[in-house]
Formats: sequence, C-alpha cells, structure tokens
Amino acid sequence: MTLEDLGWNEVFEREFAPFDQKGWKPARLIRDNRITYGALLGDGEEREVVMGGKVYHDAQTDAELPAVGDWVALELGGEDDETVIRARLARQTCLSRKAAGHSAEEQVIVANVNIVIVVTEAGADFNPRRLERYFALIGRSGARAVVLVNKTDLFPDSKNKEVAEVIRSLNPQAEIHLTSAEKNRGLKAVKAYFQKGVSVAFVGSSGVGKSALVNQLLGDEYQWTGDVNEVTGKGRHTTSARELMVLRKGGIVVDNPGIKEVQMWTDETTLRERFLDIEALAGQCKFFDCKHTSDAGCAIRSAVSSGGLKAERYAGFLKLDEEIQKLKGRCKKRQMTIERRSKREGRSNVRNHSDRLELEQELRPWRTRRI
Ligand code: GDP
Ligand code: ZN
Repeated sequence: MTLEDLGWNEVFEREFAPFDQKGWKPARLIRDNRITYGALLGDGEEREVVMGGKVYHDAQTDAELPAVGDWVALELGGEDDETVIRARLARQTCLSRKAAGHSAEEQVIVANVNIVIVVTEAGADFNPRRLERYFALIGRSGARAVVLVNKTDLFPDSKNKEVAEVIRSLNPQAEIHLTSAEKNRGLKAVKAYFQKGVSVAFVGSSGVGKSALVNQLLGDEYQWTGDVNEVTGKGRHTTSARELMVLRKGGIVVDNPGIKEVQMWTDETTLRERFLDIEALAGQCKFFDCKHTSDAGCAIRSAVSSGGLKAERYAGFLKLDEEIQKLKGRCKKRQMTIERRSKREGRSNVRNHSDRLELEQELRPWRTRRI
C-alpha cells in the first residue's frame, strides 16, 4: 500500500514538507477509538496513536480536532513511547453537521471524502425533502454528490425515471444512476467511482440496499461489516471496525457511525430556510420564548386559525423546531463543558485518558457508542 492508495495527493504533500523535515510521518486516521485513534501509514501499517497536546490546545472547537479521514503528521514512538499526532493537515473536504452561525457547533462526521453516494428507491423511501438535506450536507462538504435510485427491479421503468427526474431538479449537479443490487443492474457506472485514492461514502435510509450494493460492487474483496478483533500496532485488541477501508483494486470505502446517523440528522439552516414564513410570524408572537403551542398571543397559531397557515405546515414546523431545540441544548452543553474545564484546570492533559474519555463523551453525545 502507498500513501496515494490512501488518498494522499500533491496538496497534502506540499503542506507536509515542514513536518517531513522534523522526521514526522504522514498517516490517515481510519478509526476513532474515543481515547486513541487508529492511523494507517503509507506502508500499510496500522498504529494506535494519541493526540499531541499542542493539537488539542490549538483546536478552538472540537470540529478542529483530528477526525476520521484526516491526514496527520505522526511522531513515531520508540518501544514504549506512544505514537503522537503532532499536526493535522487542512481538510480538502469535510462532511459535517453544522448548526447555523457558530463554528463551535460544527460536528465533523468524516474528513476528506471525495464522493458521497446517496442511496434511495422509487418506493416509500423516496422523499425529496430528505434528499435536499443530503444535498445541503454534501454541498457544504465539498464532496461530489451521486444518487442511486436502487431496487429498480421492483418498480416500472417509468416510475424509476420519474424519480430520477425529480432528483435532477433538486440538484442538477448530482450524478444519478438507476441500479438494482438484486439483479446486478446499473452497477458498472457505480464501480467506476472506486479508483485509487478516492474515498467514497454511502448514505441513505436503512433498508434501501446499501449493504447489498456494496457487497455486489466489492463483495470479493470487502466485507461490509469490516474487520473486527484485529490487533492494532500497539498490540491491543479492538472490537470496532475500521471506518475507512482501502480496496485492493483501488478506492476507499468510508463507513463510520457518523455516516450511519447522517440520515437521522437535520441541518438547522436547511430547516429554517424552509420555514422562513413561519419564522417571520414567530417574531410577532407576544412572548419572546413562545413555544407556539399553548402560549397566549402566538402569531403562528392565530395564523393557523385564521386560515393563513396550513395546519399541516404548522405541525411540520413544530416537529422541526423541536429537533432544532434539542440540537441547541446539546451544543450549549458542549460549550459549557469546555469553558468550565478550561477555567478549572486549563485544557486537560490529553494523555490523561480517562479525562479525555469523559470529555469526549460530553462532547460527542450523538456518536453511537461502540463496544
Ligand atoms: P441497507 O440497510 O441500506 O444496507 O439495506 P440492505 O442492503 O440490507 O437491503 C435491505 C433489503 O433490500 C435486503 O433484503 C436486500 O436484499 C433488499 N435489496 C437491496 N437491494 C435491492 C434491489 O436492488 N432490489 C430488490 N428487490 N431488493 C433489494
Ligand atoms: Zn408563538
């Protein structure tokens, strides 16, 4: 394996030059173990690495901390020394959830993904609004958007094409393919995305056929569930799967908990944009903190009763508002945690693992816990 197989390119190479002079080695983070990271080096060696103090101190927000997919500069430890992340290279793309306004609220899912493949179908899963959210997320990331209308064997051709047209109208830049994992149809075009050094992530609702597609496309060289129970560079066992898998024939499949949760997320900006009219009404509510449910003088409810606002749209708004409030609660908690900690003890020493673990759990409540 070479660095290029892992996604290395000239831009990274240039940025790395001063680190190279210090004797540090480039590596890509392929796993987040919460306390440590799994890093893949150019020779194919996987090492368990820790974050250096400076990297931790210099990060203004947790979005700036190293994340899966990042390229980093490693100082390789000796026999007993840990391998330490000394620097993180600038991200060329960054898949993240970002609440409006504050950079502190950005949550990085995975860095340096080149292509995001959204899988849907012409049946019940098809939902233009959800697709818009995916497109917003992908658009912001800088990755290429590809959509697969899968399970074409289950629907008439006309239906599949109709859905593809709707998707095209939502995002004219997206590349759209009709596929059937079951009948092995349309997969050649998808296979073409897997090229040396190209990182590809699949997103989409559960049940749309992501695993089936991946198995059809890459089945002979890659198990969707990933390698488990492998021994890392430090000889420690880990039960979590690699989040980036390098394929022998070229290409990197990105599969991590963040990606799996993408479909459950909503983007505050996207949400608010769709309800600008209601947001404007909210400004006219009697109380600043009106919940728009039972409070007196609610301009939104009065618009519903006067027929100016459809009840359905109001219900949709309430649901989305609830999601946004939940999101805000989490972000606030995270900021408070960081402030409290820096006041009390300064930025904690990153080598104090239990401390970082605790902080991580507070910082990342949205991450699925893995065994
Ligand atoms: P995932 O949750 O997105 O990974 O979805 P799976 O790959 O587990 O697929 C869910 C179900 O849909 C499985 O029973 C698959 O066999 C089936 N499936 C996947 N792709 C197709 C397809 O193209 N056509 C048909 N008919 N079934 C499919
Ligand atoms: Zn109100």
